[in-house]
Amino acid sequence: MELEIDRTEVLRYLQSSKDLEDDNINRLIEEATSEIKKLINFRYLYQKFPIELSEDGIKVKGTTLTLKGKSIKKHLNNSKEIYIMAATLGAQVDKKISYYEKVSVTKSMIFDACATTAIEAGCDQVEAEIKEEVLAAGNEDITFRYSPGYGDLGIEIQKEILRILKAPKKIGLTASKYNMLIPTKSVTAIIGVITEKTEVDHQAEDRIDRGNENENLEERDLEFETRHCKNCILYQDCELRRKGIYCGAKG
Ligand code: SF4
Repeated sequence: MELEIDRTEVLRYLQSSKDLEDDNINRLIEEATSEIKKLINFRYLYQKFPIELSEDGIKVKGTTLTLKGKSIKKHLNNSKEIYIMAATLGAQVDKKISYYEKVSVTKSMIFDACATTAIEAGCDQVEAEIKEEVLAAGNEDITFRYSPGYGDLGIEIQKEILRILKAPKKIGLTASKYNMLIPTKSVTAIIGVITEKTEVDHQAEDRIDRGNENENLEERDLEFETRHCKNCILYQDCELRRKGIYCGAKG
């Protein structure tokens, strides 16, 4: 799978304007993009599971995994099945990031932003593949990707997710004792299958569209951010926030 590294996205991760005219930064982005493409070993997997609501949370049937918290319950409100996915850029990208951290702060930041852009692009493609499968089965849609750590969904389920997908063996993806993914440029996520859309889903879609249309963060409706996201540990990296979606942690 060829992964696109979109310059505008890289600049967003660097918190720079998409119109930035800096020859040096532009050259470093080009260099990092071409270097990272040679190092990426993109691997992914996903599996579909039925779910059921229990007193403890949402039980993923056939596994020992229970998804706890208000936000994931809300996210999967219309779903009886979920897909759990995992994806990684592989260990070589991490090694290069560590190398650049020692030799140049600027280069390491740019390389890191390119890597984040690449893993998100890869996840977009995996999500599109899942969506195709879901629609072909006669369902209406899927939810957006929801990762451990979003809202009040605990990050401690990371290891259990990897275990049930057999991710360590199949794609070399593991988690540290603090539940950080290794390699770091990796993602796990939960996607709900929507058999029938409600008004709430349509509103969420509108918010995504609005987020995508407005490329400048300042132009977006920032209400949810000022109300909920400012104190979140994921504030800098949260893909949902960047798309103008609120995880529902307190809703
Ligand atoms: S940054 Fe906002 S949307 Fe993202 S996980 Fe945190 S509270 Fe939720």
